[in-house]
Amino acid sequence: MTAYPNMLAPLDLGFTTLKNRVLMGSMHTGLEETRDWNRVAEFYADRARGGVALMVTGGIGPNLEGSVLPGAAMMTTEEDVANHSIITDRVHEAGGKIAMQILHAGRYSYGPKCVSPSPVKSPISPFPPNPLDEDGIEKQIADIVNASVLAQKAGYDGVEIMGSEGYFINQFLVTHTNKRDDRWGGSYENRMRLAIEVVRRTREAVGTDFIIIYRLSMIDLIPNGSTHDEVVQLAQEIEKAGATILNTGIGWHEARIPTIATSVPRAAFAWVTKKLMGKVSIPVITSNRINTPEVAEEVLSTGCADMVSLARPMLADADFVNKAIAGDGAKIAPCIACNQACLDHTFGGKLTSCLVNPRACHETELVIDKAEVTKSVAIVGAGPAGLSTAMAAAERGHTVTLFDRADEIGGQLNMAKQVPGKEEFWGLVDWYRTMVADLGITVQLGREVGPDDLTGFDEVIIATGVIPRDPSIPGQDRDNVLSYIDVLRHKAPVGDRVAVIGAGGIGFDVSEYLLHEGDSPTENLPLWMKEWGVTDPAEHRSGLAPEGPQPHAPARQVTLLQRKKQAHGKGLGKTTGWIHRATLKMKDVSFVGGVNYERIDDQGLHVSFGEERADPTVIECDTVVLCSGQISERSLADALEVKGVNCHVIGGADVAAELDAKRAINQGTRLAASL
Ligand code: NAP
Ligand code: SF4
Repeated sequence: MTAYPNMLAPLDLGFTTLKNRVLMGSMHTGLEETRDWNRVAEFYADRARGGVALMVTGGIGPNLEGSVLPGAAMMTTEEDVANHSIITDRVHEAGGKIAMQILHAGRYSYGPKCVSPSPVKSPISPFPPNPLDEDGIEKQIADIVNASVLAQKAGYDGVEIMGSEGYFINQFLVTHTNKRDDRWGGSYENRMRLAIEVVRRTREAVGTDFIIIYRLSMIDLIPNGSTHDEVVQLAQEIEKAGATILNTGIGWHEARIPTIATSVPRAAFAWVTKKLMGKVSIPVITSNRINTPEVAEEVLSTGCADMVSLARPMLADADFVNKAIAGDGAKIAPCIACNQACLDHTFGGKLTSCLVNPRACHETELVIDKAEVTKSVAIVGAGPAGLSTAMAAAERGHTVTLFDRADEIGGQLNMAKQVPGKEEFWGLVDWYRTMVADLGITVQLGREVGPDDLTGFDEVIIATGVIPRDPSIPGQDRDNVLSYIDVLRHKAPVGDRVAVIGAGGIGFDVSEYLLHEGDSPTENLPLWMKEWGVTDPAEHRSGLAPEGPQPHAPARQVTLLQRKKQAHGKGLGKTTGWIHRATLKMKDVSFVGGVNYERIDDQGLHVSFGEERADPTVIECDTVVLCSGQISERSLADALEVKGVNCHVIGGADVAAELDAKRAINQGTRLAASL
C-alpha cells in the first residue's frame, strides 16, 4: 500500500493514459539553445526513467518575434523536427511521455521585434512592443498552429500552449495590456478570442489523439488582471475549443508578489486551482511550490486538482516519482526553491542546473559511476561541500569517513534554516542525514581532527569552511557587539535597536531574522497572503488585496549598513534579491551605504561618510551585529601541507569570496567524480 495513492493513480485521457498524476512543468533550462540534442535528450530521458507521467519542454518559440530572446529555440523548420525527434525518441525508449511547450512571449520577448496587442511597454523589458494589426494577429495564430503540427511530426505526445505568466496570449486577455477596440479587444468575449482561436485551430490541425495542455493564468497578481468569473469563463471556452488538460499559471512575471521563491509557503496557490474544480470536465493541474510527495498527495487528496506540476523538484531529483513509488520519499533530494542554480542562471544567460543536484542539465558531462579502484577517503567538514563529496564518493564505491567538530552535520546550512522564510533548509539537512546513513558513510561528529588523524587514508579532503572576517572596528569587543553566529547559532539576546554591519546575503538574513516575531509567514498561508496583499480573485480582480501588503510590525528597529555606495542587496540572487529588499523595506529597515565604521561605544555605532570621513553620525542602537563576510578556515590544510600530506581543499576553505552552497556542492561533487 502506497502512502501516495492519489499521486500515483493513473489518469485516463481517453486516447492515452498517464501512469500517474505528476507532470514535470516547463522550465527554460537553456539546454535546447546549446543545440547539443544528445544532451537535451538525456536530460529528459533521465526524468522519464525517473517515473514522471508527462513532461513539458522549456518554452519553444513559434516564430522570431515571439521567441523569448534572439537565438532562443524555435519550432519552425524540418531541421527543428529532426532535432526534436532525438528528444522524443529517447524519452519514448525510456517509457516516458513528453509535450512541447509553445511559448509566444509577446511584449516579454527580449528584442526590438516583439509584438503585443497594444503599445504598452513591459516594466521588465527595455523594448517597446509593436502592436499587431489583424493580419499580424492571424500570422501569430498560424505560426503557433504550425509549431504544434511540427511538434506532432517530431513525435511529441502533445503541446502545451502557454497562456499565462503575462506572455502573449495572457496579454490579450486583460485590459492591463489590451487597449484595442476591434474584435480582439474591448469586451471579455473579444479579449478571449485569441486564446480560443489558438486552441481551436490547433485541435483542428493535430486531430483528436494528441494532448493539448492550455496553461491558464488563474490569478494574475497585476493591476487590471482577470476576475475569477473570467478565469472560469475562459477555462470553459478553452475546453470547448478542444484542450485536453488545463494547467495552472500563477502571476505575471512583472508581478511584485513572490510566487515560487523559498519564502512562499508550500502549495501556496493550490486553493486557486481548486476554485476551478468541478467547473470544467477536463483534468486540471495545479502548480507552484509543490516539492515533496506528501505535499502533492495532500493537494490531490483534498480535491485541489487532478494532477500536480513539479518543475524545479525534477531538477533536484530526476527519480522523484520512482523513489515515492518505492516508499523512499526521504531519499528524494529536496528542491529548496532557492532559484540559485536554475532561474538565476537562466536570467543570467547561463545553463540551468540545481544547487542540490549539480548533475541537472549536466547529465552527459558529470557522471557518478563506479570507481575502478576503490579508496579510503577522509573528509573533514560536514557542511555542503563535505557532504556532497562524501555522498558522491560513497556512491562510487569508495569507503568514506566524514569528520566534523560540531555535533551535527550541515555546517552553515544549520544557520540558514533559522531564518524565517528559509525553512526548506531543514529538509535539506534531513536529506543529507538520510543519505549519509543510507550510503554507509562513517560519520564522526564532535571530533576535532589534526594531521595525525588523517594518515592512512588514500585521499584527504579538507572542507573546513569559513570563519567570520574581522572588520577591526574600534569597540567591537564590547558586550553590545555580536557576530551573526552568536545570533543565528547561539541565539544570543539582541536589543530593540540594532545596527547590522555588512549587507551581503548574511546581513540580509540576520536582518530578516531580527525583524521577525511569531509564526513564520512561510508556514502560515493566510499570514503570508496578508503580508504580500494576495486575496481571492473571486473577491478582488487579479487576486490583489485593495489594502495592499499588510506586513506585521517589525520586532526591532534595524539599520543595515555597508561601505559600498551601490544599492543594498545588489549581489543577492537575480530572481530573489528584490524579494529580500522588499521584505526589509516593508519592515522599515534603514539602508545606509557609503559609510566608514569609526567606533562602537555605549551610544551605538559611529560612522562617517566618504574618503574625507565627513558627516560623523551616530547610529543609536543597543546591539551591533557583525556580518562583514568570511575568510577561509585553512588551518588544517596548512598543517597538512607542512607535514607533506597531499590533500584536496574545497568549498569555503578553498575560496571564501562569494561562497555559497551552490559552488560548494558543485565543487565537492565534481571532485568526488574524479577520485
Ligand atoms: P558577503 O556577501 O561577502 O557580504 C559581506 C558584507 O560585508 C558586504 O556587505 C561587505 O560590504 C561587508 N564587508 C566586507 N568586508 C568588510 C570589512 N572589512 N568591514 C566591514 N564590512 C565589510 O558575505 P556574507 O553576507 O557573509 O555571505 C556569504 C555568502 O553566503 C555570500 O556569498 C552569499 O552569496 C551567501 N548567502 C546568500 C544569501 C542570499 O542570497 N539570500 C544568504 C546568505 C548567504 P562592504 O564591503 O560594502 O562594506
Ligand atoms: Fe530547486 Fe534551488 Fe535546485 Fe533551483 S537550484 S531546482 S530552486 S534547489
